[in-house]
Amino acid sequence: MPLNDQQFMRYSRHLLMDDIGEEGQLTLLNAQVLIVGLGGLGCPVSLYLAAAGIGSLSLCDPDRVELSNLQRQVLYKPDDCGDFKVDCAKRALQGLNPEIEITANSAEVSAEILAGDYDLVVDCTDNLAARHVMNRHCVAQKLGFVSASAVGWEGQLVAFDFGHNPSLCLNCIIDQDSPEPMMNCGNSGVVGPVLGTMGSLQATTVIRMLLGFFAQHGEMQRYDGKAGRWLSLNTQAKVGCLVCGG
Ligand SMILES: [Zn+2]
Repeated sequence: MPLNDQQFMRYSRHLLMDDIGEEGQLTLLNAQVLIVGLGGLGCPVSLYLAAAGIGSLSLCDPDRVELSNLQRQVLYKPDDCGDFKVDCAKRALQGLNPEIEITANSAEVSAEILAGDYDLVVDCTDNLAARHVMNRHCVAQKLGFVSASAVGWEGQLVAFDFGHNPSLCLNCIIDQDSPEPMMNCGNSGVVGPVLGTMGSLQATTVIRMLLGFFAQHGEMQRYDGKAGRWLSLNTQAKVGCLVCGG
């Protein structure tokens, strides 16, 4: 279906770009994206993807909004405290863009949730075990997988396009038997806009993967917000990786 008049206005800044245009916008409107984690990363990711007109967003997070979230989780208001994050997020995102479809799952990521029809999974959790659940699913189903994390002043992002590159996955970089990292936002703190930076980068990565411009499979980007510097790290497939085969 072509864009209607309202959509021509709403998405005009995409339509002005030669490498997006109406065809690219229709691709975004037909895309189905699962966002796991609606905290400091999931808030900016979902805001930008809803505004960009990603046609179907599924949100997954078991947590409720707490006062200590408001320093960085920019979707929530003081009145939301005590309510499920996914419900508050859905309300705010639907207010921003009423024409997209938003599904809220107030649960941990599971095989059942992952079994939905998605083009791409965005990892906005702070939990290594959950990351590996998503990684295994995305490798098996040949989906896109965009993962990020942040603590203190530092953030990192790694993304995979398993539809085009079957080898080199998260398990090649961080073994799924590794212990959870000692430092997390809950015990070590985090600078809010560092999460905004990484979340914006995740949203940009989602859009360019959906449009077919992504070419950094498995490359890791690190951001040091205190020094104001970026670093790119090359990674390699692990021989005999139990998830992707290496
Ligand atoms: Zn692997």
